[in-house]
Amino acid sequence: MAAPSNKDAALRAQILHSMNILDTTPEETFDRITRIASTALNMPIALVSLLDEDRQWFKSAHGLDLRETPLEHSFCQYASDDGSLLEVMDAADDVRFAQSPFVSGPTGIRFYAGVPVMSAEGVRIGTVCVLDRTPRSLLPGQRQILKDLAAIAAHELELRRIASTDSLTGAWNRRMLEIVATNEFHRARRVKRPFSIAVLDIDHFKGVNDRFGHEAGNDALFGFASTFRSVMRKEDWLFRIGGEEFAAILIGADGMAAVEALERFRREVADRDFAVSEGLFRMTASGAVIEAADLEGTPTGSLPGLLEKADRGLYQAKREGRNRICLLYTSPSPRDFYIH
Ligand code: GH3
Ligand code: MG
Ligand code: MG
Repeated sequence: MAAPSNKDAALRAQILHSMNILDTTPEETFDRITRIASTALNMPIALVSLLDEDRQWFKSAHGLDLRETPLEHSFCQYASDDGSLLEVMDAADDVRFAQSPFVSGPTGIRFYAGVPVMSAEGVRIGTVCVLDRTPRSLLPGQRQILKDLAAIAAHELELRRIASTDSLTGAWNRRMLEIVATNEFHRARRVKRPFSIAVLDIDHFKGVNDRFGHEAGNDALFGFASTFRSVMRKEDWLFRIGGEEFAAILIGADGMAAVEALERFRREVADRDFAVSEGLFRMTASGAVIEAADLEGTPTGSLPGLLEKADRGLYQAKREGRNRICLLYTSPSPRDFYIH
């Protein structure tokens, strides 16, 4: 039996993250989809299922009293990567599903039909599916309804992603900073690992606009964000929180590791040539970083408090001559921070 496709698992996790959807409370938008699926296809169970790393999680579950199941028990993991419908007329008769506890156990599932929910870049992130306890098949019109409902779910999820990113730079927006930081405080405590928060600001950026024009300024902002994405680790987060001001969350990094990583980024920005019609120009950035959770995962402060402190560090880095990253101490210290 071929293993189900797990193509793009990392990308899928990142996309779902950006949609801010996993573990959220039920919403009418998605409950409507399962209600229509159940009624129009005359099925006792209809689900909007999302494929997390090790589980399928139901944004909406009509007729089933479950919020999630392990991935290995899910029908949805067998859905195709090309967006087409998977229909299993009798699961008890299908080697892929006959041993599943949902088929052999009290839920007694026999029929399954699911259409993948695809992201804009063509990654399968979940399914809209229906299940029944007797073997059967769908009519062509019913298959079309299921496809349409999957497309509606995909569209809704895409809108949520747009609401979390900054379109100019591709960085996350300020709203996401609060969501990601809250999640990360919980996760750090759970897995006992540190993380750090930084604020970053491009130096003399007004001069870039004044000399080369607003368009060149926009390109430089995009270049700044893409440099971050190429230099920093994939799990790190960059947020645009103002015009030329960014925040970053560095996962698994204590203060020292964070300042080293950001120093590498700072150098990379300073060494980068930006092209304009007049030729090439360079720019620099300053920043301040603070450990937000220590090696045990214990928070060192609240997000607003840490940002305020980091802002003071940024101001100091600017005053000391710019093009530098300052590390702030979290515990009281004779010198509150030092400039790297
Ligand atoms: P400092 O080194 O002290 O940070 O100086 P600065 O010039 O970078 O800071 P200031 O806050 O004086 O100027 C920020 C500039 O950023 C002013 C504004 O025109 C520009 N800016 C803000 N948002 C955008 C944007 O979306 N596109 C472009 N091109 N420029 C922007
Ligand atoms: Mg600036
Ligand atoms: Mg600024």
